Amino acid sequence: MKPTVERYRPIVGDEIVDEIYEIAHPLRNKHIVHLNSTYQGGGVAEILQTLVALMNDVGIRTGWRILHGTPDFFEITKKFHNALQGNDINLTDKKKKIYEETNERFSSFTHLDHDLVFVHDPQPLPLIKFYAKKQPWVWRLHIDISKLNNGGLDLLNYLKSFILRYDAMIVSMEKYKKDMPIRQEVIPPSIDPLSSKNEKLSSQTIDRYLNKFGVDRDKPFITQVSRFDKFKDPEGVLRCYQKVKEKVDCRLVMIGNMASDDPEGESIYRRMITQYGDDPDVIFITATNNVLVNALQTEAACVIQKSLKEGFALTVSEALWKKTPVVASNVGGIPAQIIDGVNGYLVNPKDINMCADRIVKIMQNEKMAAEMGEKGHEIVKKNFLITRHLKDYLLLFGQLLQTKQCDNTPQ
Ligand code: UDP
Repeated sequence: MKPTVERYRPIVGDEIVDEIYEIAHPLRNKHIVHLNSTYQGGGVAEILQTLVALMNDVGIRTGWRILHGTPDFFEITKKFHNALQGNDINLTDKKKKIYEETNERFSSFTHLDHDLVFVHDPQPLPLIKFYAKKQPWVWRLHIDISKLNNGGLDLLNYLKSFILRYDAMIVSMEKYKKDMPIRQEVIPPSIDPLSSKNEKLSSQTIDRYLNKFGVDRDKPFITQVSRFDKFKDPEGVLRCYQKVKEKVDCRLVMIGNMASDDPEGESIYRRMITQYGDDPDVIFITATNNVLVNALQTEAACVIQKSLKEGFALTVSEALWKKTPVVASNVGGIPAQIIDGVNGYLVNPKDINMCADRIVKIMQNEKMAAEMGEKGHEIVKKNFLITRHLKDYLLLFGQLLQTKQCDNTPQ
């Protein structure tokens, strides 16, 4: 069903829905475009699926374009992504050339005469350089850039030549702000409670999907829902599961679809299969299937998010919304979603024993798990639903559109 703001009224209440209409009113008929690099896989595409529809629903003519890139380009931008999360990088002129030329080529056939341009993440960041800027441009970064090594700092310095042409930069957490002469806003991501991934499923649907993908229910299962990415620590999840299994007989379901802008997924997935594929209680799934993700997050005894770095981790809010407790690393945006011991546990990302211990605790105490689940649902309802996210964006758009911005030279 098409998302409309009205459908959220029974979930979030009248106040926020009425507020959204009120803030959107002066923006009616404005023309806005979102640009990112994939329409499927990963959190950005997940959010845009609903957000773009809701922006149209409240009367803002909102489009969504995908940057066209070659495999070479996405190899480079994945290296940029990893370097911004703390990896090293050899920032060569060749990499910069491919990065900028891809954006320049895209600009030659993409007309951006909108009232506001909204760019997501580093892939399309340089686009601004190739337009005669006539409107506010916003850059939304979805990753954790709080700790950079020398390579990451070099990269950020290079990216600044594009970032500082924007009118505002949005990050997910206060700690991601950087000392740069640009307006910086903190707007955390959100989930859509009415999407097929998060709506309440009947027990028949849950059974049907879990059976179809071979998840037997004769023992409990734990799950991590994540792209196969080294920062999601799939290896750590498997080692942790092995420790849990010493105490509680269970299964592990690792579901990770492939994003078209993430070329590393396939090889990491193959490595996991080679190392751990022999265990009949470990189930790997690469299908893209929202209802299946929903069923897994609903039925898991505990959801894991063992990331080493994490911009936000929508997967945590998704599981909490379904009243499933989450054991997750104390990194990036995760501590904004989990209060240790209240709706799950925060663990040291390097401590496999600690992670396993907390999962076992949840699996061995049903009453506590149910209480944690209830609290998790409330925390997400209050802070991380798409309606709050929409409202934050509309407020910012209203402010930016009041002042006409014309210049695109770095500040
Ligand atoms: N996801 C999915 N299927 C998968 C793996 C992930 O639908 O097999 C979704 C997941 O449910 C979430 C998004 O992809 O909505 C991942 O967002 P998150 O913020 O957790 O991480 P990112 O991939 O953006 O780093």
